[in-house]
Amino acid sequence: MEPVSLLVGGALLAVGYLTGRLNRHRTPPPPPPMTPLCGCGHALSQHDRETSTCYAELRRDNYDKRGRWAGHVWVPCTCRQYVGPRPIDEVFAPRLLPPAVD
Ligand SMILES: [Zn+2]
Ligand SMILES: [Zn+2]
Repeated sequence: MEPVSLLVGGALLAVGYLTGRLNRHRTPPPPPPMTPLCGCGHALSQHDRETSTCYAELRRDNYDKRGRWAGHVWVPCTCRQYVGPRPIDEVFAPRLLPPAVD
């Protein structure tokens, strides 16, 4: 084999190896599988702790009088109470199990 093709082959191998490493490194970690969501689709962290209302905003299409798209408007979420699971409560209120009998 010619030395040049050997060199090119080696370079290609090295590039592939490096790209593979980089891609693997750049792959973001998968999101937590169980993100507690409210019925409105927002997380518990987007709900006010005191009033339980959701303060997230939803992007809506806005149209002018002629029905032409006129950009986006942000409207507050209409959710008034968080109804999803509350993982924090579970942490602070563990289930009471009967004592184990050996
Ligand atoms: Zn919401
Ligand atoms: Zn909500």
